[in-house]
Amino acid sequence: MRPDDLFEPYAPEPFADFSDASVNASFRAALERVRGELGTDHPLVIDGQRVSTDAWLDSTDPCAPDRLVGRAAMANAKHIEQAFDAAWAAFGPWSRLPMEHRARLLVKLAAVMRRRREELAAWLVFEASKNYLEAIADVAEAIDFCEYYARESLHLVAPARTYHWPGEENTSFYQPLGVGVVIPPWNFLLAILVGTAVGPVVVGNTVIVKPSPSTPIIASVFMDCVDEAGFPPGVINLVTGADADLGDALVDHPRTRFVNFTGSVATGMRINERAAKVNPGQKWLKRVFLEMGGKDALIVDETADLAAAAAAAVASGFGFQGQKCSAMSRLIVVSDVYDEVLGRVLDLTAKLSVGPAEENHDVGAVITERQYDKILGYVEAGKLEARLAAGGGKAESAGPGWFIQPTVFAEVPPSSTIACEEIFGPVVSVMRAKGFDEALALANGTIYGLTGGVMSRDRARLERARREFAVGNLYLNRKITGALVGIQPFGGFNMSGTNSKAGGPDYLRGFMEMKTVSERF
Ligand code: NAD
Repeated sequence: MRPDDLFEPYAPEPFADFSDASVNASFRAALERVRGELGTDHPLVIDGQRVSTDAWLDSTDPCAPDRLVGRAAMANAKHIEQAFDAAWAAFGPWSRLPMEHRARLLVKLAAVMRRRREELAAWLVFEASKNYLEAIADVAEAIDFCEYYARESLHLVAPARTYHWPGEENTSFYQPLGVGVVIPPWNFLLAILVGTAVGPVVVGNTVIVKPSPSTPIIASVFMDCVDEAGFPPGVINLVTGADADLGDALVDHPRTRFVNFTGSVATGMRINERAAKVNPGQKWLKRVFLEMGGKDALIVDETADLAAAAAAAVASGFGFQGQKCSAMSRLIVVSDVYDEVLGRVLDLTAKLSVGPAEENHDVGAVITERQYDKILGYVEAGKLEARLAAGGGKAESAGPGWFIQPTVFAEVPPSSTIACEEIFGPVVSVMRAKGFDEALALANGTIYGLTGGVMSRDRARLERARREFAVGNLYLNRKITGALVGIQPFGGFNMSGTNSKAGGPDYLRGFMEMKTVSERF
């Protein structure tokens, strides 16, 4: 079956132009509506039922930590069992539906989210300190995952191509795995949650979604959309709560068939290890998908358009406060143009406004006090290791939240902490390379391999980077963030992950297994 037989051709959801006064006003009105809904309770969702518990987790606004975004129910061991019961009960009927039936539900879910996209984005402003464009882009990506995977699933209906054997019919086809645990991070709190849930679901699996305890409320709002779209109960279940109660318990559970994780290397390694162990009652080896961190570099050589390079660096380094896995945290510049590029980067950095997301500043607050302290710790380390060129501390005048000044370190040595470890905040390390060869070696000199970029007019170097720059997503002469679903399949190598390539044509196949049936006539 071809997707175009059923649905209009896939195209990514457009963002919004907030310089248009009416678009801006409409979004501010959505913020006011959602402001009126802040502070309410959000139960678990198990088997289509809202389940309240006797303990609640506060989700607060990073820009105004006294503001309660909402309270999420904290699940315990009993709820985990109920969620597995519901997901396995739903698996049989759900997995037997025709693929196009499930695909249609994803297209319907996309339509529901599109109708509610300003509301959803407004929640992201309050819960994660996303400015307007970052918030709309996150919602657009969530919609794209639904639309794209709906179409891609249809390619997996036909049996695999095999050869004939006399007197027999041999058919090899794909079937879903079972119940998966979906563990997304807080940074693309809607997009990654939705993508990592609906991908496995469209091909017939059922899931238990466990969002980050830093951003559980948007997950509950998403479940309203799931209901509105008409998904059967038990197909997508939501358990919220503390990592200590839920993380290991879900990963270790003998009824977990696969884990679809996005987050840090430390958590990913732990999951990898624990999921490898076969626990009593378990009948399979768990499949594990791990998309993890990065220490992403942008190389600028002496042939580059230096103005464009500086703009790409600042957008990639400080967009959403540097809290994207794709964010540029290392700017590697060849010596001839180092001072000029650094000067241009500092000029653009100085122009960034820092303040509350609801006022749509360029740079908002970082997600939690814990991250705030951790990032400021790296800033202090950087002051001992390199030359502080911009920022360097708290941005207290921006408000009472977790605001940090966009920070640039110059002459950063390759072996320093700030050049090697993922900081995940608004901190950029500028490194000097003698020439392109050294720049490429520096870029590849980490345990990661997620995103990277080259700004150059030299064709031979661009071609070399295509082959030798060891990253899952390489960007040439543009910013290194903002991968589009279905256009730039996303995911890294090495310690950045298992390369499942979200938003790519191979993604759904990972959540299926192949069965071969041979009949002799
Ligand atoms: P994290 O590892 O702290 O948490 C990720 C998820 O794992 C959360 O839901 C968290 O609650 C859960 N978790 C924590 N302990 C667990 C345990 N013991 N067992 C099971 N689950 C557990 O990461 P984070 O701070 O939420 O996210 C930031 C990280 O995610 C960064 O490293 C970033 O680079 C990475 N990231 C990667 C991608 C990608 O596509 N490669 C995309 C976005 C973010």
